[in-house]
Amino acid sequence: MKALGGTSDILPKEAALWQQLEQEARRTLDLYGYQEIRTPLIEEAAVFTHSLGEAAEIVTKQMYLFQDRGGRSVALRPEGTASVVRAFIEHGLDKTAGISRFYYLGPMFRAERPQKGRQRQFHQLGVEVFGSASPYQDVEVLCLLVRLLEIWRVQDWVLKLNSLGCREDRRKILEEVRAKLKLHRSRLCEDCQNRLEKNPLRILDCKEPGCQQVSRGIDVFESVCQNCRGHFQTVLDALKSLRVPFERDPHLVRGLDYYTRTAFEVVHGGLGAQDALGGGGRYDELVQAMGGNTAPAIGFAVGIERILMAQEKGGLESPSLKVFIATVTPREIPVALAWAEKLRARGIPAGVNLEDRPLKRQMEQAAKLGVKQALIFGPDEVNAGVVIIKEMKSGQQEKQPLSSLEANEF
Ligand code: AMP
Repeated sequence: MKALGGTSDILPKEAALWQQLEQEARRTLDLYGYQEIRTPLIEEAAVFTHSLGEAAEIVTKQMYLFQDRGGRSVALRPEGTASVVRAFIEHGLDKTAGISRFYYLGPMFRAERPQKGRQRQFHQLGVEVFGSASPYQDVEVLCLLVRLLEIWRVQDWVLKLNSLGCREDRRKILEEVRAKLKLHRSRLCEDCQNRLEKNPLRILDCKEPGCQQVSRGIDVFESVCQNCRGHFQTVLDALKSLRVPFERDPHLVRGLDYYTRTAFEVVHGGLGAQDALGGGGRYDELVQAMGGNTAPAIGFAVGIERILMAQEKGGLESPSLKVFIATVTPREIPVALAWAEKLRARGIPAGVNLEDRPLKRQMEQAAKLGVKQALIFGPDEVNAGVVIIKEMKSGQQEKQPLSSLEANEF
């Protein structure tokens, strides 16, 4: 007997590499304040059909669907977000205030034609953040993705970004793309002719030269509203100031219905046809669409098998939060975020305020996190090149030059 096509055994020698990769990921996720969530491998099929979209190829072509002994329609999970959202709502977590940061790690199942880098059972590490609409949350999630790639010794990656706008924009984009592509129906491949009615956005990332030629001039961002444009610009500006390299990709649409606003993918030059290491984006409407309270959200998933293929071999290393960086106004967030990134890069677990909220609330959060020290940046401090360091236990605080942060071990 043999393992099913598209599934593989991970033998002990290789499992050690998996464990190392997982440990490195868990440590990094701790640095950013994420907590693990584990959901079942099987779900009611509707969890996926309702969220991913009836027309999504994962649903129509790739989902392992079966009737269980009670005649229920059950699916092996093809991805992680829908299950996490289902759990988030089922356990009333959508009714608690604040921001929730989750990660998951485990197998996913898709009945795709197996090839190099493409399996029927593969593994994903994913993160989901609920409760923040801040563009700086997008930025922090992208910083986390990049940090994971660094910690995993993956080089030659390219981060591609786009904005799909809000739900209204998406509807507009869908109609416009469909109308434009309909004019050239006969030049599209057979699959894309079918996608024209059901899932026209998917045509934009079809690899067939004919389809690429037809869709070349289309930029979905042109139909995105003013608010969503502002959100995206803030994300791009902050990424630039943090020196995170990225490319704008006007054809990056992702395959699923739930994505809104920022969408992204990381590809790797050395992987051949299946070059995506991971991808994700905002899904501000999904929690509500699945029956929960309104909760803006963002997440990504990376494919572990592909990370292992892309990894430079050798090396190791990296530790609950020790320090929290607060801001007096939202304008100091980029500076605070840059310092959080610097501290995390030194292996110091750091939290940072990303929201427009009073300092008092931030200090309450810092106390809850149990950090020893809080760093506070206000407009005056930023102008003067200083920072307020507050000892959480005694409540004493003093101004220090920024250079003191470089040496502080916290
Ligand atoms: P997706 O949910 O399709 O965006 O997938 C996220 C990541 O999971 C991809 O970028 C891949 O790294 C990985 N992935 C997706 N499908 C497969 C597959 N069939 N085999 C191996 N890895 C996969």
